[in-house]
Amino acid sequence: MNELLHVYLSAWPTVWAMDTARYLVGATLMAAILALFWRAGLARRKLQPRDPIPGQRRREILASLRTAFIFSLLGAIVAVGDHQGWITIYKGFSHAGPLYLVLSLALMLVAHDTYFYWAHRAMHHRRLFGLFHRTHHLSRTPTPWAAYSFAVPEAVVHAAFVPLFLLVVPMHGLGLLAFGIVQILRNVMGHAGAEVHSAAFGPGRWLGWNNTTTHHDLHHEAGRYNYGLYFRWWDLAMGTEHPDYGAKFKAIVSPGVAVPAPVGAGNAIARAIAASVLVGGLLLAVDPAQADEGLAGRWMTPGAAAIVELAPCSGTSGLCGTIRWLWDAVDEKGRPRLDAQNADTSLRARPLVGLSILSGLTQSSKGGWEGRIYNPEDGQTYRATVRQTAADTLAIEGCVLFICQKQMWRSTSALTTALR
Ligand SMILES: [Zn+2]
Ligand SMILES: [Zn+2]
Repeated sequence: MNELLHVYLSAWPTVWAMDTARYLVGATLMAAILALFWRAGLARRKLQPRDPIPGQRRREILASLRTAFIFSLLGAIVAVGDHQGWITIYKGFSHAGPLYLVLSLALMLVAHDTYFYWAHRAMHHRRLFGLFHRTHHLSRTPTPWAAYSFAVPEAVVHAAFVPLFLLVVPMHGLGLLAFGIVQILRNVMGHAGAEVHSAAFGPGRWLGWNNTTTHHDLHHEAGRYNYGLYFRWWDLAMGTEHPDYGAKFKAIVSPGVAVPAPVGAGNAIARAIAASVLVGGLLLAVDPAQADEGLAGRWMTPGAAAIVELAPCSGTSGLCGTIRWLWDAVDEKGRPRLDAQNADTSLRARPLVGLSILSGLTQSSKGGWEGRIYNPEDGQTYRATVRQTAADTLAIEGCVLFICQKQMWRSTSALTTALR
């Protein structure tokens, strides 16, 4: 017994360091590629009009680091299994040649895709979703940092695959290493937020059987489709692929082709894109005198997701911001969306429309405005800085410690002018 514990404890630090490093290197690499090539073309391949919300990346990173820790707790059991002979992780090629290594790796990826598809679909069942999978879907507009952003029970489900597979199939150490690398790379690519695959990955093309960023991004956006991890096979076989996938991928990788009007869930995005194009196009027509009016007024968040009214706070000093309108004000069943993530359970029955999300905004010595912003998507409150960058544009920055998220809000007056 002591010996097993010794094997486990001596393997664990290496497994933990490797799982954590794999995530950090993979996500950093993807974030760097996005930053480097954003202006050179990736900006045109952005998949959703909205931006990640304030505090989202910080939440994704913390949850992912926790997942890497859980992966290592289960991963170190593999070392014990190897030591005891329950499983086989071999080195060298005396038992099996390089061909076996390649075939076993391919088998492992196909098996993982199958395991992932069915576990993922099960976690979308309404009785399991809250406990297992809601954390991952807090990222409606995912970033590469969301790769391992799972609740603890979901992390355990994913961590169980490697030990279970090794009970059946002996693997070369290099095969396992390659599996880990492919897994994180495909994962950060799926969460990139802008399409990073070439046109050759389009449906019907020679690499079209693979998933793409568009494929998994639609899952985050629409929720109901595209459960697969690496390949489209299971979604195609089970009829769960998003009906707009092929058209959206094609439109996004072929510059100059208009995004087709999607059906169903995708419709809101098309209208949001149309609204933001409309508003953006009218920036030049805005009356410059409006700048003198300060921040008070109605402002639209990215993708016309919400309209927030800034007005003097009642009772306290400064400006407060209240949600006056939401694109998704009600769910599919017509029930109003509630402040369901609030840490204070007694406040969770509040409807989001009418909720005060910005409070105590006062002019700071540095030129902008400072106050607090409440993010209903994660139930947390952040330090907020607001700057008016143009007559009809506000830059809102929400920070926790030194990690900040910025988004631009537009005055609704540009929209009303357009609709006249
Ligand atoms: Zn999901
Ligand atoms: Zn995801």
